[in-house]
Amino acid sequence: MIILKFGGSSVGNVDRINQVINIIEHHYILKRKRIAIVFSAFQNVTDKLIEVGNLSYDRKPNHKEQFNSLYQDHIDIANGLNPSKNVVVIEKLNLLFTELEEILHGIYLVKELTPRTLDYILSFGERFSNTIISETMNNRGLICEYLDASKLIKTNSDFGNARVDFKITDKKISRFFKRKNKTQIITGFIGSSRSNEITTLGRGGSDYTASIFGAAINAKAIEIWTDVDGILTADPRKVKNSFPLKSVSYEEAMELSHFGAKVIYPPTMLPALQKNIKIVIKNTFRPDFEGTEIVARNLKDPFTIKGISSIDDVSIVRVQGGGMIGVTGIASRLFGVLAKNRINIILISQASSEHSICLAVLPESGKDAKKVIEEEFRLEMIDKKIGEVIVEENLSIIAVVGENMRHTPGISGKVFQSLGKNNINIIAIAQGSSELNISLVINKKDLSKALNVIHKNLLQSKRK
Ligand code: ADP
Ligand code: ASP
Ligand code: MG
Repeated sequence: MIILKFGGSSVGNVDRINQVINIIEHHYILKRKRIAIVFSAFQNVTDKLIEVGNLSYDRKPNHKEQFNSLYQDHIDIANGLNPSKNVVVIEKLNLLFTELEEILHGIYLVKELTPRTLDYILSFGERFSNTIISETMNNRGLICEYLDASKLIKTNSDFGNARVDFKITDKKISRFFKRKNKTQIITGFIGSSRSNEITTLGRGGSDYTASIFGAAINAKAIEIWTDVDGILTADPRKVKNSFPLKSVSYEEAMELSHFGAKVIYPPTMLPALQKNIKIVIKNTFRPDFEGTEIVARNLKDPFTIKGISSIDDVSIVRVQGGGMIGVTGIASRLFGVLAKNRINIILISQASSEHSICLAVLPESGKDAKKVIEEEFRLEMIDKKIGEVIVEENLSIIAVVGENMRHTPGISGKVFQSLGKNNINIIAIAQGSSELNISLVINKKDLSKALNVIHKNLLQSKRK
């Protein structure tokens, strides 16, 4: 069995969906390959669902209009794909849209939009797209079944970013597939809590759905079909000359995506890694191109550095003071208080003098981080052992990633030199002890230039 996943970018309109169905038919069904297919919501639909939820909550006059346009978009796609035989699919869509309309009306009336309700609203994106595509495929004689993944993926109740309970989920999925022969069309992104409320797996989570299913049924491969040639050496929207990699390791893929390469959702690698299942990133618009494989050990690409990625907006929180030197437990209290307040740390850098610790967080968490840290260290601050916590904004992180860096001295030197020569100031540096990545914090205004000079000096030059 192979698990295929097509993202929103591959299913944005009628032509694209036809192209996807073509791939499924000619590359798999006619070749008698067993498959199960995960689809995301159509392009931008998840964003529009968030918007319509907020408009209803705010009782904005145009909330109905937004809802209607979402409805019309889906009806148009369903009709476009099924010029005849469209009765059943429209009927099913009408039922789903009625359900959504009722929820939105409820939000409007009670003026309450909880994360739980938002997840419920977001689940419609994947339910709409998978309903339309499964009906269309059946109409064309490609026999398949719609599968609501929330029936099988069990999670905790962290709405918006729910954690999967693999023990129950794996069992449910493998049992389910033992009973099924038809191709399953699986809703990405969604799961359900113990009390059967719909949850979502985090934005971009359909990739994860594919990997969860793939691992549970010991698939031969997990193929993520998207709108680029694979994992590229850098974000193609930011670095013009980025090029596709033949192969990266699970760890490299995880690092690149953790630091902003949107092409694959970071947690996707874990289930696949545990079962040693190959993930392949493929381009829907160039199906014959080999794409990038993500495997345990990459042997196909000779590059020391595999890629660079970036998180465009971060803040730095700096905790410093003489009272920190040699005092055990400061770091653990610091991380403890941030974890307790659910503030996610993207990067940590500590000077060897132990005089200061520097943390990168998302901009929206900067002020909260300062507040809770200052509360935690109130006494140390009164004694002047620790100074005021400083938050610096408008910064970006660049991560240079590659497994072979650890065997190659001088890489960081080259990175710093490239930036120095271009007058780009480095605000903080962190290198994981695995030496898989070097991360740099720089001013946001330098981001584009920094990415391009590093790419040019460390990647493009090697390609030739
Ligand atoms: P999908 O809708 O298929 O899930 P996404 O938009 O989530 O697609 O991810 C694909 C996009 O990721 C690409 O269009 C590209 O702009 C972006 N991207 C960012 N960094 C990289 C990278 N290093 N390699 C490939 N794509 C990247
Ligand atoms: N539709 C969801 C999102 O936009 C999941 C996904 O596309 O992977 O985040
Ligand atoms: Mg995606």
